[in-house]
Amino acid sequence: MPLLKSWVASANDANHPFPLNNLPYGVFSTDSIDPHCGVAIGDMILDVTAAEAEGLISLADEPLFDVPFWNELMEEGPAVWAALRDRLTVLLAEGSAEQDRVEPLLVPMVEAELHMPFAVSEYTDFYAGRNHAFNVGTMFRGPENALPPNWLHIPIGYNGRASSVVVSGTDIRRPWGQLKGPNDALPRWAPCARFDIELEMGAIVGTPSDGPITVQEADDHIFGYVLLNDWSARDIQAWEYQPLGPFQAKATATSISPWIVTKPALEPFRTNAPEREFELLDHIKDCGPMLYDIELEVTMAPEGKAPTTIARTNYNEMYYSAAQQLAHHSTSGCPMNAGDLLGSGTISGATKPERGSLLELSWGGKEPIELDSGETRSFIEDGDTLTLKGAAKGDGYTIGFGDCVGTALPALKDPYER
Ligand code: MN
Repeated sequence: MPLLKSWVASANDANHPFPLNNLPYGVFSTDSIDPHCGVAIGDMILDVTAAEAEGLISLADEPLFDVPFWNELMEEGPAVWAALRDRLTVLLAEGSAEQDRVEPLLVPMVEAELHMPFAVSEYTDFYAGRNHAFNVGTMFRGPENALPPNWLHIPIGYNGRASSVVVSGTDIRRPWGQLKGPNDALPRWAPCARFDIELEMGAIVGTPSDGPITVQEADDHIFGYVLLNDWSARDIQAWEYQPLGPFQAKATATSISPWIVTKPALEPFRTNAPEREFELLDHIKDCGPMLYDIELEVTMAPEGKAPTTIARTNYNEMYYSAAQQLAHHSTSGCPMNAGDLLGSGTISGATKPERGSLLELSWGGKEPIELDSGETRSFIEDGDTLTLKGAAKGDGYTIGFGDCVGTALPALKDPYER
């Protein structure tokens, strides 16, 4: 599919993240507009709430978009999702008969503040990137036992905290926690010294389910994708994670990019999962290309300094797709809701500059990375800004995600000192 031309001129640049082919959904506000639904087109945001109020969009008996989240649209189901995308495409396409009515409803993106695009009902994080699992397993347990025996048969995950998911631009406070190094006799209470990122994609469930669903059904249920940074306190994690997995190490915050890129926008970029070392059981067997060719990048900027790209990889490095993760999640009968967020797991490529966490990039702190400023880093230092970027490159156009940014703030003085 080539670039679809819009009468919003900035959207027609081959490198712009938000062409007519994309139409990602977000929640915005301005000095005069309270937070509600908008769609990105070029350098502008179409006020979808206003377009619905003006009668330019009419998909349900009651308004769907006069709220600061996209869950109401999700709950309408895939036919209505498609109807909205079709309608937006008509309204914003070059030569649209309704340009005169739509143009006054555009808000310059530079004047807008972006908010959480949906209400997160629950959050599950997976561990489905093979290179990442192998690297971390090698560091923690040695190369022979790097991949746990279940890893090639099920997408491993843990139940995270919806309450800790924040939108890009939110500062992240370094946590305190219980730490115990390998040579310490006893644990101690201290600020995290090995604060890290995880480069992930987040899949958003749009259609609820109540009981086991197939991989194909799961793919149909997914509403869209965001970039996701699963902030991780490695020293807290190393002490607490056995045998039930991470807990407080992952509960400080998880950042997501502000625009939901919908599945139709990503359709041209579908790609197959890798060769299977073991045949997967039927409930998660591959039934079509369900990963996507999305280029990913991480930059790090010390306070007041220019950013350095510290990693580049691709979402096609995953071993399990989000559809397989969602299908597996449902096997027990676990109900899934509109607004459920599934983290992919850290995405790392095969070589060193493709690693999606500082833990891997610095190999547990043994090989600090060098930034363009001349500084080195093993883990995040106070004031560092970490940015995830993602883009699928089409034929003369780009499907961008909007950056997922967070700055690390220093730990508070001991939070229990009263
Ligand atoms: Mn994670």
